Amino acid sequence: IPSPRLEMPVTVPCQYRTGKTLGSGTYAIVKEAIHIETGKYFACKVINKKLMEGREHMVRNEIAVLKRVSSGHRNIVTLHDYFETSHNLYLCFDLCTGGELFDRICAKGNYYEGDAADLVRTIFEAVKYIHDSGIVHRDLKPENLLFRTPAEDADIMIADFGLSRVLEDEKFHKLTEICGTPGYMAPEIFKKTGHGKPVDVWAMGVVTYFLLAGYTPFDRDSQQLEMEAIIAGDYKFEPVEYWANVSETAKDFVRKCLTIDPAERPTAAEVLKHRVRVVHLPIGILMA
Ligand code: ADP
Ligand code: MG
Repeated sequence: IPSPRLEMPVTVPCQYRTGKTLGSGTYAIVKEAIHIETGKYFACKVINKKLMEGREHMVRNEIAVLKRVSSGHRNIVTLHDYFETSHNLYLCFDLCTGGELFDRICAKGNYYEGDAADLVRTIFEAVKYIHDSGIVHRDLKPENLLFRTPAEDADIMIADFGLSRVLEDEKFHKLTEICGTPGYMAPEIFKKTGHGKPVDVWAMGVVTYFLLAGYTPFDRDSQQLEMEAIIAGDYKFEPVEYWANVSETAKDFVRKCLTIDPAERPTAAEVLKHRVRVVHLPIGILMA
């Protein structure tokens, strides 16, 4: 990474050398980066300014949100540093070496409902913290949930605050732009009736479904059909062989998160009160 030209306040203007690519999303490439002076490893999100033209405010917003929530909770990625050159914006995060949630689950030999319940509870605790801080994440999905280390009991981390928003006054401030990842987007986003924190609970319902079965509930042949299924709340716990070992409690949990009306949908705090009954039977045929 070249020497930063300081156009923004910078904590420590220092140099990094980038290594392998860790992942990429819509606007960014995330690379492993070594801080030359200390030899410490980081994850550096490199955002091309040309690609972001006209949407630079999204990155400023991401930084503003991260300043508010990052380092305040052990399950939220920490932003360490940020700087820019004439071509790129750089966001340096704590390196998560354990990979994305999706890959980890697929790699697991034996997998139990209790494992899913533990993960979902931890993520929801972090979501509650984000919501209590007046922020809605809006892009919760397995690609944005990372493990801190490769260890079996590694912390799960919420990453990618690129679509998140600060809600100034929750009663009146409703978001209306259509954004997110279609399969995880709540009905009210498509309906453009205004949305807020409940969209994160919906997305977590989809994530939970995915953790229990190995596939997502609203997968359809086209985006139009997918959107219609989401608006109608049209999903099933099928094929039955994938759900045979999943408890009624877990299904009930998913049903509650996937409540069509956002006003009726439980909040993150309410969801955390759901009684978990751990069943010790392997689940998710696809993943076995
Ligand atoms: P985008 O907004 O483009 O989706 P993300 O912030 O989600 O960018 O990063 C893209 C991908 O890079 C993630 O899905 C993940 O695989 C990887 N990644 C992001 N942050 C880290 C991190 N701190 N440590 C390791 N990998 C990361
Ligand atoms: Mg992402």
